[in-house]
Amino acid sequence: MHHLDSEIDRNQISMVALEELVSENSYARLVDVFVETLPLEKLGFTHCQHEKEGRPPYHPKVLLKLYMYGYRHGLRSSQKLHQACLVNVELWWLLKGLKPSPRTILYFRKNNAQAFKNAFQHFVLMLKEWKLIEGETLAIDSFKIRAQNSLKNNFNQKKIDRHLDYIDGKIDHYQQQLEQAEGEEDKAQLTTKIAHQKTKRVAYQSIEKQLKASGQSQISLVDPDARGVILHRNVVNVGYNIQAGCDAKHKLFTNAQTGNVNDTHALADMAIEAKDLLQVDTLKTLTDKGYTTGAEIARCTQNNITTYSSPKEHSSKKNGLYPMQNFTYSKKGDTYTCPAGAVMHTNDSVYQKGNHRVKHYKTKACKTCAVRHLCTINKNGRFIERGVHQEELERNAQRVTNNPDYYRLRQQVTEHQFGTLKRQWGFTYTLLRGKENVLSEVYLNFSVYNLIRAFRILGPKVLMAKLKELSLCFSCQYEAFIAILSDFHYHVLIHCFSFKTYFRARTSHLWLYCRN
Ligand code: SF4
Repeated sequence: MHHLDSEIDRNQISMVALEELVSENSYARLVDVFVETLPLEKLGFTHCQHEKEGRPPYHPKVLLKLYMYGYRHGLRSSQKLHQACLVNVELWWLLKGLKPSPRTILYFRKNNAQAFKNAFQHFVLMLKEWKLIEGETLAIDSFKIRAQNSLKNNFNQKKIDRHLDYIDGKIDHYQQQLEQAEGEEDKAQLTTKIAHQKTKRVAYQSIEKQLKASGQSQISLVDPDARGVILHRNVVNVGYNIQAGCDAKHKLFTNAQTGNVNDTHALADMAIEAKDLLQVDTLKTLTDKGYTTGAEIARCTQNNITTYSSPKEHSSKKNGLYPMQNFTYSKKGDTYTCPAGAVMHTNDSVYQKGNHRVKHYKTKACKTCAVRHLCTINKNGRFIERGVHQEELERNAQRVTNNPDYYRLRQQVTEHQFGTLKRQWGFTYTLLRGKENVLSEVYLNFSVYNLIRAFRILGPKVLMAKLKELSLCFSCQYEAFIAILSDFHYHVLIHCFSFKTYFRARTSHLWLYCRN
């Protein structure tokens, strides 16, 4: 017996083509074909055309291939990607031996934020053409990632006040010591300490000014768009709340947004964006109770979007008094009937309560009510607040109650993608600053995810064939499209319904450029 040993002699020159080193179904081959398919210049990537003078730039397809390959394998920083270019055989093949510097790699991502979004949307429309995205049911959910801003550099008014109080206490303490100090050296030391605390005070006052000028409840000094978000149960960190829309058919991503620290006001914007992108007349959405807001559901209804959002429990339920379910609403008279049988009326005034607009309902019968102790502790009697969008909320709750199996799809459609992105690819933090740049990283991740899903669903051969076919098809269609626009005056024809319908059906992925 002997150990297994290699037959390769390190000192022997061997004739090997890079082509032989990359397996037939390698992800690198898929990325290669996919990026070649994209109309990079139309999508807005820089340096598609080079200058006549100066050092020639890398073509954007080289760097886009590098990013799409790297993100799949958890290589996200420019240093790691550059290092991979030096040692990874598949990248030698993919980039034909090119080795862009870390700085070039870094600036490509930074300067092409909008182009990454366009590329992702272009791919979504391709997936819709291939019938992998249906555009019937959209599940929306969110996940949090950490920003390039520490908690130390994030302030709200409460935190600033706490720091200022601490500094004032320190200054008082040093001044008392100064009054009692006798030696010149001690006095000099204490004077320096007081001066240091006063400098810190000025710095915090400047931050307070910035916070007031911004009109926001918090301010981040390193990445101004980042916000304090709850990452886990009680763990707060500075980051971004990423909204993701997923089509129910094959669980593919359709769109993304960020900006709010929670989901309360995200539903309508996400659903309308997806509906416009997918060019569908109606859409159904599945969301958890974090998204259930009357105003958002009403906006969805106005835009032909049917919501299935988990209903929230009424806040009065657990205080031991009569819950809201014991009060019956009558739409006809716009009144409530209480458990004692009294009719509660409204004066039709609408009050602002936080982010909600509500009407109040009261009755004079409370004064002499025998069961008042079971109903209210308010000395003026019970009054009920009803949101102006309460009917929408009730209709939404009814839909969820009547279709429990359909609603249960939500978890299956959205949750597992987040696990893949965060646990397998390490997307728990962003490397970039600013909302637009952070979203470009999100779109890049989502594009890679969709590409791999399409690879799994269709198989390598079918997907490669479709991409190659589309590449040819796209160049022909685009030329024809541009020719038609110039010949028949686009601005007149764009309002013609039949024209829009025809081209949406035939060239839906090109519609992206018309909208942009
Ligand atoms: S306290 Fe007022 S609202 Fe409550 S049961 Fe009595 S009459 Fe009705």
